[in-house]
Amino acid sequence: MMAHEQFAEDLALYALGSLEGEAAATLERHLDECQACRQELARLEGDMALLALSTSGPAPPQRARQRLLKAMAREPRSLRTVFMRRRWWTLAPVFASLVLAIFAILLWRENARQRDRIDALKADAANNQASFEEAKHVLALLTDPSAMHVTLVAAQSKPQPAARAIYMPRNGALVFMASNLAPLAPEKTYQLWLVPLHGDKPMPAGTFKPDPNGNAMVMMPPMSPGVEAKTFAVTIEPDGGSATPTMPLVLVGS
Ligand SMILES: [Zn+2]
Repeated sequence: MMAHEQFAEDLALYALGSLEGEAAATLERHLDECQACRQELARLEGDMALLALSTSGPAPPQRARQRLLKAMAREPRSLRTVFMRRRWWTLAPVFASLVLAIFAILLWRENARQRDRIDALKADAANNQASFEEAKHVLALLTDPSAMHVTLVAAQSKPQPAARAIYMPRNGALVFMASNLAPLAPEKTYQLWLVPLHGDKPMPAGTFKPDPNGNAMVMMPPMSPGVEAKTFAVTIEPDGGSATPTMPLVLVGS
């Protein structure tokens, strides 16, 4: 008990960063083996951190101030000298270092949170990459001339010309797939048209010629984004395509 009393003053000075030389070394040796003094030191430092954090507020927390005052009263001489010689604000560096330590912990926590966010972004990127790879495989299959295209229809009915347009007005992306198309006369081509929702003038959306099996595809013709489509239609035009469709419509869909 006597040993602790002896160190009470030194602990407060040590917490303030004002204990030097042999006294500091002796206290540190004692702290190594005395848990009670380590706890007291932690309390004192906690109080000072509270005081430091409250400097912008109206008053330091009462509990913290009282505990520091009690530490001063326990050994009035040296500690009071510190406070007399140095006014409160000159102790700012000590407080600042405590505040910095607290900010360091907050920053460390924030960094941990950022790391989590970066991990999530990395996972997103990996997912996007996976989707992209999948899309590439699908496109490779759709466009590979050696791939088999089979249209299934109701049993005992004859396959009819048919097509499917997949269109995204937002960015003008368009994929069009047709099957069972009749062979074309030489110097002729099929042409796809987009009839916009607003305005009746059909817009050319690409020309195509079917393979010997009657399959054809139009992919990503340069369509302007933001055009809502009312109808897609296919006509037969002279090679190179036309500016306006030539009747009759071979295929039409709304
Ligand atoms: Zn002790």
